[in-house]
Amino acid sequence: MKYKKRHLYIENVSAERLARQFDTPLYVYSYNKIKDNINSFKKNFKTINPLICFSVKSNSNLKILSLINKFGLGADVVSKGELTRVLKAKIKPEKIVFSGVGKTVDELKFAISKKILLINTESENEIMEIEKIAKKIKKKINIGIRFNPDTDAKTLKKISTGRKENKFGLIKNKFLEILKKYKESKFVNIICLSVHIGSQITSHIPYKNMLNAVNKIIQQSKYKFKYIDLGGGMGIQYKNNSKKLNYLKYNKLIKSFLKKNNSKIIFEPGRSIIGNAGYLISKIIYIKKTNSKNFVILDSAMNDLIRPALYGAKHRIVPSKLNRQKVSKKHEFVGPICETTDKFLNIRNYQKINQKDIVVICDVGAYGMVLSSNYNLRPKPAEILINKNLAKIITKRQKLNNII
Ligand SMILES: *Cc1c(COP(=O)(O)O)cnc(C)c1O
Repeated sequence: MKYKKRHLYIENVSAERLARQFDTPLYVYSYNKIKDNINSFKKNFKTINPLICFSVKSNSNLKILSLINKFGLGADVVSKGELTRVLKAKIKPEKIVFSGVGKTVDELKFAISKKILLINTESENEIMEIEKIAKKIKKKINIGIRFNPDTDAKTLKKISTGRKENKFGLIKNKFLEILKKYKESKFVNIICLSVHIGSQITSHIPYKNMLNAVNKIIQQSKYKFKYIDLGGGMGIQYKNNSKKLNYLKYNKLIKSFLKKNNSKIIFEPGRSIIGNAGYLISKIIYIKKTNSKNFVILDSAMNDLIRPALYGAKHRIVPSKLNRQKVSKKHEFVGPICETTDKFLNIRNYQKINQKDIVVICDVGAYGMVLSSNYNLRPKPAEILINKNLAKIITKRQKLNNII
């Protein structure tokens, strides 16, 4: 994304043209940004040669998943729906892992029938269900066990998953107990230890604590895991100059971990692959002036992008056309939905903007469209993929007729 002669371009297509041609609100993704993100992720971890499984819950668009496949990644899925979608995108079963605390028997059977690499289990109940299925079909099923390392990810509270009070994984004693009980099982083959401590992590320190905890429990268990699945969580920069995860340091920590534990590393990145490759193009419907601030009412709302309302996340909002007039009064960017939390951003010293202007909400590629809804009976936006000059519809805008 860059300004050329004061007009905002995503790759070689201007935001204003996109708004005109495809209407707003509109999700737009950059093909080359996705490609660059994947290449730099691979490069950062080149020396440990991991299996990289894209976290499909961050963005499950079929065309995007096809790109993910084309660029060589596998997939981390959390439902039958996601598993069906990634198979349709031609991602190979031997590159698919299935995570989640509450997979149903139907989902487990489906995953087993598709012969995916492994199912990361999170409770003894779940392992027992898998054993039952295995017994019936007379096969041994590859599973992982998710470990809860009781590590603070130092991120937004609502996206932390690695503390003992969170529902995810098994804490130390329980993990060891279950490992001991099932390691000789005739029906499950424990090949993986998995962890995932949270999302939008911008320091290597939580990862260091996580690796220490994983190392400790492996030494205690004296068990050889073929795979160690370290999850995802790598943070991105939602603000210019905000803190950045030091991948070199994280990679170094993993390298020294691997000296003690000779396993294959799996990653499940979502946000770091797709987050900054997505934009939400919006139009200003009205500007309502009050004494203390101006409400900038967009045609995008929390049903299109819920992260600000749900997590208190802040996304940059940039104008499609730059001018040199600054307004010192506070602007509050909001959506039209009848909820006080339907707001995106408070900002001072924004440039002068007008009704019908186009603005772009940035870094919405992850946990954007996937979390959209029809709240207030609003149709979901279209999705566009841009590759240089080419802009293609990858999801059509929902028609009001189809949701009424
Ligand atoms: C959400 C999730 C991920 C992806 O997290 P990001 O922060 O998007 O990288 C990976 N693994 C599991 C188990 C998850 O729940």
